[in-house]
Amino acid sequence: MIARVSLEIALRKEFDYSIPEELAGQVDVGSRVQVPFGPRKILGVVTAIAEESGHANLKPILKVIGAQTLVTPKVLKLARWIGEYYCCAPETALKSVLPEAVRKEDAGWRERLFVRPVSVSGEFPKLPKRQQEIWNLVEERREILLSELVELAGTTAATVRKLQDRGLIDITSEISERDPYANETILATQPLVVNPAQAAALEKIKAAMEARNVEGRMKNAETNSCEKRAGAISSFCIQPSTFLLHGVTGSGKTEIYLQAIAHALEQGKSAIVLVPEISLTPQTVERFKARFSSGKLQTLVAVLHSHLSAGERHDEWHKIRQGRARIVIGARSAIFAPVEPLGLIVVDEEHEHTYKQEEAPRYHARDVAIMRGQMENAVVVLGSATPSLESFYNCKKGKYTLLDLPERVDDQKMPHVRVVDMRQAMFKEKGPPLFSPQLKEAITQRLERGEQTILFLNRRGYSTSLLCPKCGYVANCPNCSVALTYHRIEQKLSCHICGHNEKVPLVCPEPKCKNPAIRFAGTGTQKVEEVLAKLFPKARIKRMDADTMKRKDDYRHVLGDFRAGKIDILVGTQMIAKGLHFPNVTLVGIIYADSALHQPDFRAGERTFQLLTQVAGRAGRGDVEGEVFVQAFTPFHPAIQFARRHDFVGFYEQELEFREQLKYPPFSRVALLTLKGRNEEKVKFSADHLKRSLEKSLKSLKDLVIAGPAPAPLLRAENFYRYQIMLRTRAMSALSRELAQLIQSLTLPEAVSLAVDIDPVSLS
Ligand code: ADP
Ligand code: ZN
Repeated sequence: MIARVSLEIALRKEFDYSIPEELAGQVDVGSRVQVPFGPRKILGVVTAIAEESGHANLKPILKVIGAQTLVTPKVLKLARWIGEYYCCAPETALKSVLPEAVRKEDAGWRERLFVRPVSVSGEFPKLPKRQQEIWNLVEERREILLSELVELAGTTAATVRKLQDRGLIDITSEISERDPYANETILATQPLVVNPAQAAALEKIKAAMEARNVEGRMKNAETNSCEKRAGAISSFCIQPSTFLLHGVTGSGKTEIYLQAIAHALEQGKSAIVLVPEISLTPQTVERFKARFSSGKLQTLVAVLHSHLSAGERHDEWHKIRQGRARIVIGARSAIFAPVEPLGLIVVDEEHEHTYKQEEAPRYHARDVAIMRGQMENAVVVLGSATPSLESFYNCKKGKYTLLDLPERVDDQKMPHVRVVDMRQAMFKEKGPPLFSPQLKEAITQRLERGEQTILFLNRRGYSTSLLCPKCGYVANCPNCSVALTYHRIEQKLSCHICGHNEKVPLVCPEPKCKNPAIRFAGTGTQKVEEVLAKLFPKARIKRMDADTMKRKDDYRHVLGDFRAGKIDILVGTQMIAKGLHFPNVTLVGIIYADSALHQPDFRAGERTFQLLTQVAGRAGRGDVEGEVFVQAFTPFHPAIQFARRHDFVGFYEQELEFREQLKYPPFSRVALLTLKGRNEEKVKFSADHLKRSLEKSLKSLKDLVIAGPAPAPLLRAENFYRYQIMLRTRAMSALSRELAQLIQSLTLPEAVSLAVDIDPVSLS
């Protein structure tokens, strides 16, 4: 027998190897293997087993990694789809379905030495004092780690081993699972009695799960009855399998997820829950663990995310592979978790852009979830307070089923949103003030009443640029085409793209100018904090952004203090926009609501609407009604006005019209080709060349629109120039196929590289 192996080097090709006798029973589709490749040894995955090969003199597989096949056939199929659809080498796609910690050759379980007493028959020997003490400890504990024992008894391993020599204790090496949540105590919870809106949603989800279950059984059954099968398949087509659960935060979405998961477990199936990295807090995980920690549906909940150590990730993954953990909760890549059989996939905050991977394979976990759901006959539930336009459109077209939770569970009202026209405020004072009089007044009131305020500005640093009013000089990054941000506390200018730092000049650096009156313009969170402190000297103010939250625990500490009422005003970037729930926050101020509107991206409006809605949702989570002040220079922009009225459908309908006129997604699909290199001329030349090749080879795609090449909105980043070509079509699978072929035959200058991004979420 021979094995076809996809190697971990992007060659877009698979290679045949012979299976040596001693490995015969161990090699299967999905096995990870080590093979010789030229003078090297390389890791790869077996993608097929065959009787014979077209090649002679095959080299043998050297070694099989892990006791079980690591890539299940279903995940393998999914990886192949990713390679094709996202137009990347199959090896690249295959590599991303296994976590690094599992792929590594030497990855493994942690073995530790355990000490246990041996029951002694006959008379217990007289021991030296030291050994007797150790024995007492072992006997008392019944089981103890050798390392712990050594420390506890203040002794050495050698001394402990003397007891082993006397036959009084056993020292054995055993696998000790790493549990990232070992220190948390979890109280079991019971399903809540759902309200009517929740019940209606849940019923539809469960019905779909039932239908899929029947369908799955029919498919598996060896039945000759065509009629029966046709009947099942038609009911399967009628039954929706993807749901969009639209409900504001606090409307009870998570409770629906939990009960739907319970239903999957009852059917003997497993579930995957995707959550954006930032929402994957211990509290979130605990809600899932607590529900399934006891009772007849008890199962392990495995957690996959980037804050785990490599060892923890290894162990969590294998708990899933071995079928012990039937619920997986994780960030983007958890969509590849090897659960089987899969009954349900939940994608919470489905509109989040972090579900898109920004390097190859540039997959979107939500879309992969839908594909996986289809392949494995599972139901998919997408949840959000502010769904993506794409998902909303799919509901309108009948591809997904919309489920609405129109109200918060506890009958809290939506906050009152006031839009402040900053153009007016500007006339009265000299420049645009940071705080409108209305917002200032509102903050004063909250401080008097002992209530809390959140202020949001999506810009860190002090000032967003340094400029000379005399000669027009702007301090730009030497590596990127952006202005440097002034950080006052650290006294430096810094680039938020590449991290470049420099000293703050005292006079204009232009040799002919040297003007000492250089100015800082634009506002960041540091300045908001400083101005606040001057306006409200008694207030306890804390800032939360990437500059103050350097360590893992910082975030938790500040939120803890805020919850405990030790902070009056929390100033922050989008870090504070997500899912935080503080009953005493009655005021939210959005300092500059238009900042995201003016970006050169057709999603700017959608993003602003989502951000405003999310941030505003932080206010009024307790008994007192919340109030939100949105400061804006374009107060009548639809994104701002619809957000003010909490009118989700209104915004989406008009945004859809705009997208349809311009043939932007969801009315087409986009492929963004970015050429990158240090020499701008070469990059530009290659882009022109690529455009001509595209025009020639893509003639058959009738609705294709090719735009560009044009400099990317961020022309230069980290010293690389970037040019883009944007392709739009409704037939993305066909385009991906054509593109893959074209890329194979395309020759680019050595110093220029091409990145293909299918369904990009950001055009920068
Ligand atoms: P979301 O996920 O939409 O933010 P959650 O499911 O977290 O909403 O619900 C918000 C709060 O309401 C939680 O504290 C939850 O325990 C509670 N809750 C949800 N559903 C119910 C219900 N049917 N009855 C009582 N409390 C509920
Ligand atoms: Zn830079």
